[in-house]
Amino acid sequence: MAEVLVFVDHVDGAVRKPTLELLTLARRVGEPVALAVGAGAAGTAGVLAEHGAVRVLTVDAPEFAEYLVVPKVDALQAAYEAVSPVAVLVPSSAEGKEVAARLAVRIGSGVITDAVDLEAGEGGLVATQSAFAASFTTRSRVSRGTPVITVKPNSAPVEAAVAAGAVEALEVSFSAQATGTRVTARTPRESTGRPELTEAAIVVSGGRGVNGAENFHLIETLADALGAAVGASRAAVDAGWYPHSSQVGQTGKSVSPQLYIASGISGAIQHRAGMQTSKTIVAINKDAEAPIFDLVDYGVVGDLFQVVPQLTEEVNARKG
Ligand SMILES: Cc1cc2nc3c(=O)[nH]c(=O)nc-3n(C[C@H](O)[C@H](O)[C@H](O)COP(=O)(O)OP(=O)(O)OC[C@H]3O[C@@H](n4cnc5c(N)ncnc54)[C@H](O)[C@@H]3O)c2cc1C
Repeated sequence: MAEVLVFVDHVDGAVRKPTLELLTLARRVGEPVALAVGAGAAGTAGVLAEHGAVRVLTVDAPEFAEYLVVPKVDALQAAYEAVSPVAVLVPSSAEGKEVAARLAVRIGSGVITDAVDLEAGEGGLVATQSAFAASFTTRSRVSRGTPVITVKPNSAPVEAAVAAGAVEALEVSFSAQATGTRVTARTPRESTGRPELTEAAIVVSGGRGVNGAENFHLIETLADALGAAVGASRAAVDAGWYPHSSQVGQTGKSVSPQLYIASGISGAIQHRAGMQTSKTIVAINKDAEAPIFDLVDYGVVGDLFQVVPQLTEEVNARKG
């Protein structure tokens, strides 16, 4: 059966959820072969095997930690040459997209970024993308070379599918460019204990209607009850109520969770651009005419200062 190469995103051996989603998609088209690079790479094999990886190629070297993306591109190219896959799948992070694009240039292939679905079609793998602020859904196929495709988080379910997961050490010789840009320092972001915004299955966002940084705890409490990430509109970010790293929208992050709850957000086109591919959208807004209600699956016309605490209480009661 044809093999599909999956580039693993992991932190010290802990595989991040978007990679497991890639394995689900890869199994639709062939047998997944995973490539894990860097510190802890060998530790990824167990979980990758549980989710369908028939082979796990691993490589660690100081270059992965000391330099920017090129060593990873070198490793992915070495894996590509060793496996001859029918497709290469990469998580759609900023780094993933750079790695994918550089690989595609090197191997003379077409690249598709930010796919939200993949299927085997006539003439090859067909990727679905959500374009122009999700106003259009496009289906595309790479017409030259082996498709290199980056896939957005939350585009597929994580499915258990036990496979051999045979671990193989990958030989990589680094190119001259690999050591061109050295990492001089790393500062870990302060952890909120909440899931990463772009990967979260549930996002609870607050906008201008939250009316002050001191009220964002309402949004956070609901998010924590649901195990969700917290997002914010640009109005809330520009007012200094929440950090820019949490902004959802055209000039913020794009999210596509299973559930998006917008509180006190009007639904401007630039905000929609970052969230309208969410599977289920709920809005709480006191203005029944707010444009966000054109988009929602469920809308609550009401004051968020009453609705959000009640919702949190109800969620907590059902959990208990
Ligand atoms: C180039 C460009 C890029 C942009 N990029 C982004 C982006 O990335 N992300 C983004 O979000 N915006 C972006 N914007 C800004 C965007 O146009 C809107 O101004 C912004 O999204 C509005 O944020 P908001 O919905 O929180 O505020 P508003 O539009 O002011 O809406 C606040 C809403 O809260 C409701 N409300 C008020 N009080 C309550 C209450 N007590 N209970 C319930 N509801 C209440 C109101 O009815 C209203 O609908 C961009 C704009 C431009 C020009």
